[in-house]
Amino acid sequence: MKKYTYYKKYKNSNKLKFKYLIFVIILLIIIFLIFDSNNKNKLNISLSNLESFKISSQNIIKLEDIANKYNLIFYEMLAYYAIENNFFDDKELNIDDIEKEFIINYKNIKSKYKKKDIEPYINIVKNLIEDIKVFPIPSGYEKDYVYSDSYGAERNYGGKREHKGTDIMDRENIEGRIPVVSMTDGIVENIGWNEKGGYRIGIKSKTGNYYYYAHLDSFEENMQKGTKVLAGDKLGYMGSTGYSKVEGTKGKFPVHLHIGIELETTLTNNEIWINPYPFLTIIENKNINENKIN
Ligand SMILES: [Zn+2]
Repeated sequence: MKKYTYYKKYKNSNKLKFKYLIFVIILLIIIFLIFDSNNKNKLNISLSNLESFKISSQNIIKLEDIANKYNLIFYEMLAYYAIENNFFDDKELNIDDIEKEFIINYKNIKSKYKKKDIEPYINIVKNLIEDIKVFPIPSGYEKDYVYSDSYGAERNYGGKREHKGTDIMDRENIEGRIPVVSMTDGIVENIGWNEKGGYRIGIKSKTGNYYYYAHLDSFEENMQKGTKVLAGDKLGYMGSTGYSKVEGTKGKFPVHLHIGIELETTLTNNEIWINPYPFLTIIENKNINENKIN
């Protein structure tokens, strides 16, 4: 009898020890998880850095080549690359450096960030890459235009402000000469005169991004609010309209197309007009390559 009680006690105390051990293990796991998630990189990116998206086009094009070579998702890679560089890289890398520094460490880089932190940025890049299917100037006019990254440059009409877009200039400076086509599928949300943009057209894509084409000389017939457009559909012709409350005013600056892109994003409730330049160069490069194949 005595022996039995002892055994029972022994058994009970072992059970207790076992429970205690499980409790300690669970606690350790929780502590580890908390520590690990705190260790993950908190994204400390200012919205103005995101907006100005100063990643060199040459590097982006190299990234795309590498993504294809390693069968990686280009938009995801570009988002991680941009974040790693705080949306600003002014040095042109050679392809070996990108492979050495970025691809080799890609898994580690990805594991540094929490999914919920990184996701809005990946979505921004993904939506832009998916939306923009063609360059806004159709093929055949490659020698007629020129553009550079002028995002953030000073503008004075309507008060001192920053240029929140890309200007594609007509080399010959002739109104109504170069056609403008929609870069994306979408629905015409705004069309007509506005003071700064002149004759402008704004198209909302299904991702919610808004694509703005300003200073047009004329609109394509039948374009109106609510019209469904496909990427490549003609919107009108390049001009120099705007900078006046008087409809039809033109010639206050050289003939060009102003492209603006307002993002749909969960990052902020304020308007974000992202720099279109890198995305224009990506699509221009792609369209030129496609035309070479065809
Ligand atoms: Zn502009």
